[in-house]
Amino acid sequence: MQPVLLPDVNELSLRTTLELISDGIWDWNANTGYVYRSPSWYKMLGYDIDSLDNTVFTWENVIHKADFERVMSHFDDYISHKSSEYKIQYRCKAKDGTYLWIEDTAAIVTQNQDGSVARMIGAHRNIEAEKQLLEHNKQIQSSLQSLVDKQTQELLDANQKLEKQATEAEVLATTDALTSIANRYFFEQRLHHEIARANRFNEALSLIAMDIDHFKNINDLQGHIAGDMVLIKITNLINNHVREIDVFARWGGDEFMILLPNTSQVEAENVAEKFRSLIADEHIIQGHCVTASFGVAELVSKESSEQFIIRTDRALYLAKEEGRNAVRCQ
Ligand code: GH3
Ligand code: MG
Repeated sequence: MQPVLLPDVNELSLRTTLELISDGIWDWNANTGYVYRSPSWYKMLGYDIDSLDNTVFTWENVIHKADFERVMSHFDDYISHKSSEYKIQYRCKAKDGTYLWIEDTAAIVTQNQDGSVARMIGAHRNIEAEKQLLEHNKQIQSSLQSLVDKQTQELLDANQKLEKQATEAEVLATTDALTSIANRYFFEQRLHHEIARANRFNEALSLIAMDIDHFKNINDLQGHIAGDMVLIKITNLINNHVREIDVFARWGGDEFMILLPNTSQVEAENVAEKFRSLIADEHIIQGHCVTASFGVAELVSKESSEQFIIRTDRALYLAKEEGRNAVRCQ
């Protein structure tokens, strides 16, 4: 098949064609230094047609300073055949002083015998709208991102606050407000847990019930605040001598419970005796010899938590009956 050829294109018809194209066309004769620029080139940048010198200086003068080096290096690479393509985006100065983003695409059409460029034709395409759209999208993306970041941070903060509140609520629900040790609710939970453990692993579990002797007298004689101080001091004293695995709790009023996992009755009795003498020997409050009585029991097979507590309390009752400041077992 015969190829379809363009009709003979002379200089005049070429110029006419170039003037019809909306892109700014440029045609550089490297040997003479003459640069032809199409009317659309001038229109794109707002200059009067043919109002600027037909030299490369005109081009150099319109390139934005910040883009200049990048453009020149790309241009040099192409005309020295280091790169095979000339296509680059940069800003050009319009007549009103503003800058317009353009895309410059060109090709060498004639070379001298030594391989240097003799003629190069290119086109400047106005890409300002594309760039603005891109910039607009970037801004939307970044403001969306900061909105997401802000909301994520707000959620994290709210979550942290909730976690803190939950921890505080947990502490409040399980701690005795006056003495800061475990309260009865927490003790009962741990008692069930430790009874199940002791049965599962066939381990000993002992319980000590402790009650301050004639505590009412302290309140009556020295006042309620002094009574509170006694409760706090005794709690601190005992707290310093219980093990990590023991559960020391305020059962109510002036009565306390100490649950001792993996501890036999004999061992628990010794522990109670140690606590008894600790309190009796300590100078807790001016003008009053503070003592406490203790009941000790070891969990027996198939015993419920209620029965275990009742037996321990019964031992405490015995200690009270037999004169107080004593340890009794069940
Ligand atoms: P016993 O030797 O038989 O245990 O005699 P007691 O006086 O210690 O026993 P009783 O049960 O008659 O009195 C306990 C007192 O503890 C009565 C109550 O007002 C007082 N009490 C209970 N809770 C608190 C408290 O939080 N602070 C103070 N200061 N007193 C309390
Ligand atoms: Mg008492």
